[in-house]
Amino acid sequence: MSYTPINEISKIRDELRATFCKGTTRPLSWRRRQLHQVARMVQENLEPFAKTIINDLGRPRNETYPVELGLVVTRSITSAEKLEEWTKPEVLTEAVPDWQKTWKPTIFKQAKGTVCIIGPWNYPMILTLQPLIGAIAAGCCAIIKPSEFSPAYSTLLAELLPKYLDTSAYRVVLGGIPETTRVLELQWDHIFYTGNGRVGRIVAAAAAKHLTPLTLELGGKSPIIIDANYDMDLAAKRLLWGKISNAGQICISPDHAFIVREKQDEFTAALKKWYGIFYANGPLNSEYGHIVNETHHTRLMALINETKGEIVVGGGSNDKLGIEPTVVKNVKNDDVLMDDELFGPIFPVIPVDSVDDAIEAINARPHPLMLYVFTEDDQVKQKVLENTQSGNIAFGDTFQALSVDALPFGGVGESGYGRQVLKYTFDEFIYLRSSIDMPKEAEPTLEARYPPYNEEKLKF
Ligand code: NAD
Repeated sequence: MSYTPINEISKIRDELRATFCKGTTRPLSWRRRQLHQVARMVQENLEPFAKTIINDLGRPRNETYPVELGLVVTRSITSAEKLEEWTKPEVLTEAVPDWQKTWKPTIFKQAKGTVCIIGPWNYPMILTLQPLIGAIAAGCCAIIKPSEFSPAYSTLLAELLPKYLDTSAYRVVLGGIPETTRVLELQWDHIFYTGNGRVGRIVAAAAAKHLTPLTLELGGKSPIIIDANYDMDLAAKRLLWGKISNAGQICISPDHAFIVREKQDEFTAALKKWYGIFYANGPLNSEYGHIVNETHHTRLMALINETKGEIVVGGGSNDKLGIEPTVVKNVKNDDVLMDDELFGPIFPVIPVDSVDDAIEAINARPHPLMLYVFTEDDQVKQKVLENTQSGNIAFGDTFQALSVDALPFGGVGESGYGRQVLKYTFDEFIYLRSSIDMPKEAEPTLEARYPPYNEEKLKF
């Protein structure tokens, strides 16, 4: 992957800014065309794009087509269709008292300007192009800085994007830390960062220097609570699927499970059963994602070697960056597996005495991006909802919620702030510009505000 020369980055930003100032991105017809071009770019290059992701992550086609390629195509087309509705100024004549109606109080949906999108490697397409779709719909110019750890995807994006989109408004910057550092030194009108919290803090500090507004889509340890009354076989099937997808390298991968103690063995036996059904020839001889690079492979294998829990299934690895889905039971809250977000196919199971104990353990950690709850009891659902905080919550399943276009997605506390998906992404890239348009005829009704002041005017 050849990186963007560092001294070109500010020139790119200046060119985009000039385009924004010229008003190129203002007409909805222009934005609609760019959105259709995003869809066309992906649609006409489905297989080349899929191959890059398979190359970078070994991710199976079935896990790649729907959640990356499919979603980008449908969401860019939907955004194009919704442009009028989203951008329409809101005239508030109904919402204000009679004496303010003639002022025409209006909220304009104004583009923030020239923005910067920084993406991670784990879902390299949706997590760079979904923000881009929102930026285009809002009427912003944008640079995209995809991850250096998904080089095949990032290189293809840099090659194809200029063939489909207006390069005076949208550009790809390729690079690692030095290039991203240069990007972050520049002033942007919004930064949309997806990745880990450590870098999130670097991005937030850089943004603070220019008072730049920010979206932070971060990660964390997304916990699971399994109540005694739930069907253990079904919970195991759904959760194992959640854990194996992209080999656990998902921001909302179910990280660790709290289970009522007496059900732990039934649950882990069911996980073992489904493991055998999903991968009759073993995961490492099947269509199953690999770990992104040596560093993460070494980190995850060290965790497997250092845990004090009991490995129920998995634990093996190969020299092609593969690691078997690894279920570990009787894990304690202070185990090495509970230190940080696992971001890999290791599944710690922690026995607890009650759902209340699980809630207490969850509340002792930073707010996660997602919380999964498996229970048949509506009161337990309500209790978890009321007594915990997480960016999102799913009952009875893992990340199927992400396929619901109408739901916003984002974090709270250490899992980030801001939201995405369709209108919610658009909202990150606009600001609400309030306005009034005072008619000359209103002058008699305003007399009381002018000096000289007197008691009579106070009563007005
Ligand atoms: P990554 O290493 O690819 O980093 C993300 C971006 O930050 C890259 O573009 C990279 O170049 C840049 N970067 C890295 N180090 C930097 C530095 N020192 N200074 C400036 N920029 C730097 O991806 P990652 O962070 O390993 O991604 C995984 C993390 O992202 C996990 O924590 C995961 O939970 C989180 N994530 C969150 C979401 C979400 O939507 N909330 C989605 C996917 C991943």
